[in-house]
Amino acid sequence: MKPEIFPARFAYFLATLLAMLTAGVVAQVLYGTTLSAAESQVNKVQQLAHDVYFHEGDIQGHGHCNNGWVVFEDYVLVIDGNFPSGANEIIPKIRAISNKPIRFAFDTHHHGDHAYGNQVWADNGAVAVAHTGVLEEMKKYEPGRWNDAAKSRPDVAASKLKPPTLLFPDKLIFDDGKHRVELIHFGVAHTHGDGFAWLPKEKIVFTGDACVNGAYNYVADGNIEQWIKTLDGARKLGATTVCPGHGPIGTSTVLDDQQVYFTELRKQVKLHLAKTPEAMRDAVDGIKATLQKQEQIARYVGDGLGAQVEKVYVEMGGKAFPTAK
Ligand SMILES: [Zn+2]
Repeated sequence: MKPEIFPARFAYFLATLLAMLTAGVVAQVLYGTTLSAAESQVNKVQQLAHDVYFHEGDIQGHGHCNNGWVVFEDYVLVIDGNFPSGANEIIPKIRAISNKPIRFAFDTHHHGDHAYGNQVWADNGAVAVAHTGVLEEMKKYEPGRWNDAAKSRPDVAASKLKPPTLLFPDKLIFDDGKHRVELIHFGVAHTHGDGFAWLPKEKIVFTGDACVNGAYNYVADGNIEQWIKTLDGARKLGATTVCPGHGPIGTSTVLDDQQVYFTELRKQVKLHLAKTPEAMRDAVDGIKATLQKQEQIARYVGDGLGAQVEKVYVEMGGKAFPTAK
């Protein structure tokens, strides 16, 4: 998700409530703890397995993404670069767990909340790693977006854009015999450079924003039709724990729910496809009500829906919506 896209206060309240409930349930399932269902996991380190950690970022307060890290025998691999302030938030938390050097920071895609912290990681000795599409996307959009973000974010203004320098076309594997992490590109989704981090031994997948858990879908840089297919690739991994790019950690159902949300969204848009762009824009509220009725996907419906409907409509051959008067 992009930093400027935030759900409205009420939608956020609902999303938070749901997130808390989900997080509480998952935490109980995963660790057998007696966490209260209302306990938020934001900004807390969650250990998922030996040497494997998840950290749910504070998206509401700081626009931060979720992070993960894996402690290998000789180094730490961090999943997602976050914003500079997000990187600075978790570095002490990693340091509290391991004194091994942080060698690699994997950008799941090019957005600021996942890659603008790269300079902070570099200052701490880590190389930014990403799918080749991340560099291509940065060439397309930067430094324009960085400069925009720097206007409202002191952490960005105080740092500098650092594109990833270790790139992989399809797959990159870290394996020291004890731990194995596979960075995989399954195709276009949230962007043209999405990478997943798959831990086959622990059956944990870190998805970046190709899969979120809540109303955090930002669709402008990707392709929703291809996104659905890309999620099939991720689902075939057989993960039992899904660490999304935003929102609470969950089980394999989060990947299913994300996919069903886009499938249902496309179905709804198709029903209105004969409409003019203006009439299509006016149909958004009705689509919203329909999607919110579906329990499995209601939590994905938020302020971004209008842009999502427009994106699908354009993908299906329609024209961009006229700007509201
Ligand atoms: Zn994001």
